[in-house]
This record gives sequence, structure tokens and C-alpha cells, in this order.
Amino acid sequence: METLLLTTSEEDIEKAASILKCGGLVGMPTETVYGLAADALNGSAVSSVFKAKGRPADNPLIVHISETADIERFSLVREFPESAKKLAANFWPGPLTMILPKGDNIPDEVTAGLDSVAIRLPSHEGARALIKAADTPLAAPSANLSGSPSPTTAQHVLDDLAGRIGAVIDGGDCEVGLESTVITLCSTPPTLLRPGKVTLEELREVLGEVALSSAVLEKLSDTEEAPSPGMKYRHYAPKAKVYLLKASDEKFRDFINTNAADSVAALCYESDIPHLNAKCLSLGEKGNYDEEAQKLFAALREIDTIPDITTVYARCPGTEGVGMAIYNRLIRAAGFEVTELE
Ligand code: AMP
Ligand code: MG
Repeated sequence: METLLLTTSEEDIEKAASILKCGGLVGMPTETVYGLAADALNGSAVSSVFKAKGRPADNPLIVHISETADIERFSLVREFPESAKKLAANFWPGPLTMILPKGDNIPDEVTAGLDSVAIRLPSHEGARALIKAADTPLAAPSANLSGSPSPTTAQHVLDDLAGRIGAVIDGGDCEVGLESTVITLCSTPPTLLRPGKVTLEELREVLGEVALSSAVLEKLSDTEEAPSPGMKYRHYAPKAKVYLLKASDEKFRDFINTNAADSVAALCYESDIPHLNAKCLSLGEKGNYDEEAQKLFAALREIDTIPDITTVYARCPGTEGVGMAIYNRLIRAAGFEVTELE
């Protein structure tokens, strides 16, 4: 299959919408990462998303809508509680996904058989135009091969999925760069399942009490059930082995310089670069978590394009604010190990 590369022009959005209406798949730009979209009300179209990505069948998809009213219009939920309405008013359109009791209209393929459904209203104009033109909610996981870092450019989508999907719409570099924050409203209190640009602190300001799933900052034990199935998988990893180092500027730089070799790269801050004798991939200014989030996945992908690199030493962010989302992705890339340099 030839994969069309489309723009966000009206004509191209119509082309992409007609692919979706026929049960095809389209790479969709959003403000978080690129999504791989299918008609969420067409079970067989949704199945082909899992095939194209090699995604485990037990990992449910997020349903994307173009306005809050779509929830009722398409009977997506059984219940739309006050707490969800408050979150929608505060954070939609934007990078927040809510888990709610699933409506009868949603095929089991979307929710992997769960009784709940994940819903998000993206702020990216291209995404919303596509959902409107398709005139149906779109189920979309990240548009990468399962296990690899999520795509933040149209080229990343082509690198992974060219020949497997109908089209990709180039809507530019993703502004946030990490997947949406996921909160479930099916528990009391509501629970943060995946951190993102909308932070735990911000959610607590709106809802009061919000619990933090233990799977956010630690590896689940083999006997624990994942509250969000996606959290149990190894994720976001380049082919090179990633080590996450918790260290002061000095300790980090000493460690890299002591271990420098042709096979080693550092995932570091701009201010580290003049002090390092190794290949460096910059995550921007230290302490600017928004910039670090935006750059992280592209840097993880770039590592695999540099010949000979087999080892990557990455700086460990803090867990406050958006740092929690970066930490959550990096510990998965590093197989849940953090090394503290004394
Ligand atoms: P992705 O779209 O690739 O970012 O993955 C979507 C994330 O949302 C995965 O971690 C899923 O496990 C999670 N998710 C989707 N639907 C549900 C649901 N009904 N309950 C819990 N987690 C969900
Ligand atoms: Mg994903």
C-alpha cells in the first residue's frame, strides 16, 4: 500500500476523511504526539490499527472527539459525571484523556474488552478538522510501531508505518511532545494513570483529591494488575541501552567523561555539552521541562541513527510538574532502573 503524505489543507483533510470513512488508517497530527486514527465506531477498522502497529490486543485506544458535545451525540459513555465536566471545562481542548464508563456504541476492539473508555478532545486544529470531516470519533494510539518512541513529526510516522497505512497528515512538530495525561474517573478518588503536560498538581487544583497510580513512578510487580494496560509494557526505547543517571551536574559530567567511548552517547542539557567528551543529544535548557518533553522522543529516535551507539546515559529529571511525565517515559526506556551517582 502506498502511504499518502498529506497537508492540513481543506482538500487533503477531505481525502484523509474519506480514507477513514472506508475503514482505512490515517496518521493524525495532535499537540501531544502523532496518532494512528481509525473510525472508532468501526470495529474492523480499529482492529487494523493493532495490526499496523503490532500493538498487544489487550492495550485499549483513546477515542478522539472534536467537541465535548460529541460524547453525548455518539453515546460514548454511560455516565458523564460532574467531575468530568469540570475537567473538560478546564483542560479541553488539550492534552488530557479521561477514562469514563463505556457507552454501548463503542466496539470492544477500542477498549480491549474493558467496561470503560478513554476520551480526549485534542487542541491541534488539524486533528479537530479531521475528526469533524470524518464525522465520527477517531480511535487513535500513538502512530509508532509498538515499543518504539512515540512519533512527534510526520517523518517519524513514515519511518515506522510507511506502506502499512493509507496516509499521514503533516501538521508540523508536536508542541507538547509526550502523550496525554490519563486520569480515570471510574475510581474514588479519581486516579492519575499516566502523567503528561496536564500535571497532577493542576488536576488536584480542579478536583481536590486525586490519587497517583503506583505504576506511574515504579515498575509493577508481576502479580499486580495494571490499572492502565499500556503501563505494563516496555516502551519508548531506542535499540541502544538507556541508563538513567540521577546526579549533580558535576557527577554526571565526570561519569560521562570517564566512560566516554565511540559507542556512548549522552542525553543531556545544553549546559552540559561544553563539558562533555562524548556524543551529545540535547534536551534543551536545564529545568525547562516543557522543552525537554518536546525534544525527548525525537532525541530517543535520533540515537538509533548514529552509527555505533549502543549505550546512552540520560539525565534523570525531577518528578514535580511536567518532570513527572518525562521521568515516567525515561524509566520505561531504561527498563525501570535509575542509577544514583554518589
Ligand atoms: P497511546 O494511545 O499509545 O498513548 O495509549 C493509550 C493509553 O491509554 C494506554 O496506556 C492505555 O492503556 C490507556 N487506556 C486507554 N483506554 C483505557 C481504559 N479504558 N482504561 C485504562 N487505560 C486506558
Ligand atoms: Mg503509544
